[in-house]
Amino acid sequence: MKIGLINVDSKIPNLALMKISAYHKTKGDAVSWFNGMFETYDKVYASKVFSYTPDYAYYPAGIEIVKGGSGYIGNYTVLPDEIEHICPDYSLHSNMDYSMGFITRGCIRTCNFCIVPKKEGYIRPNTDIDEFTMHKNLVCLDNNVLASDFGLKQIEKIINRKIKVDFNQGLDARIIAENPDIAKLLSRVKWLKPVRMAMDNMGEADAVIKATELLRKYKTTPRAYSVYILVRNDIKDALRRVEICRNLNLNPFAQPYLDTNSINYKVSQEQRDFVSWVNQKQFFKKMPYELFKIARHNRNAGVLPDKNRIALIN
Ligand code: SF4
Repeated sequence: MKIGLINVDSKIPNLALMKISAYHKTKGDAVSWFNGMFETYDKVYASKVFSYTPDYAYYPAGIEIVKGGSGYIGNYTVLPDEIEHICPDYSLHSNMDYSMGFITRGCIRTCNFCIVPKKEGYIRPNTDIDEFTMHKNLVCLDNNVLASDFGLKQIEKIINRKIKVDFNQGLDARIIAENPDIAKLLSRVKWLKPVRMAMDNMGEADAVIKATELLRKYKTTPRAYSVYILVRNDIKDALRRVEICRNLNLNPFAQPYLDTNSINYKVSQEQRDFVSWVNQKQFFKKMPYELFKIARHNRNAGVLPDKNRIALIN
């Protein structure tokens, strides 16, 4: 069989497609990225991550098309076990120098904006790192690894193997804040990227402050941890959270709230302005948000900015 793969909208390597590729190769099938101009296929898999991006427009007719991923609204399908528990085909991405996977699936929390509880349910063990780790660098996509005893044991294993790791969906600051032993454990990890946490609302501020204190007490480096900041329409609330990060020498990373149930959901201009300001550190470090917003709007309206500020807003 000839299998075509389409990564509809993700800029990073797509784990599900890499596993599907590995699975079909074990069956003796030929697998490649879909190229409808020059090739024909027996079956095509498409993966889409974001609900607000358009689907691929040129699916071939007359063959089986399998679509999956959170970008297809209401599509909470999971991979069958024989595909979920296979080492991903890293050769699909020739420059990939890290392994990827989920040690755990699910989460102990039920944040109302998040798709994880609906898609994956409560936290549970998923995979031993030996199943998918082929590099000295590892990116784990777990949603709340610290809430799982299995997850904590796997972190011990990562430490003992001297693997550099990034939990790129963030670590739960509330769990770190309440468990000095977990902060101690994390201080022994070699981090591929600084520890990531989240402060999605002001109710999580105290936990991030306490977790930062503990992580630094036990010398978890690099010390400028990242903090995801969810940006809804209440910009004042988001501003308070990023200023807390600034005061703690943490690195906020703003993400606009996205309604994963709607393809028509639009991020407001105010959310866009705020996210641009926070995430472009040359602005975040040098000018207050209100000034950034005025300068940006003036530029968009064709009003020439003060010449001293031209360098900052271009
Ligand atoms: S803690 Fe994170 S993963 Fe868990 S439900 Fe909340 S946002 Fe989702």
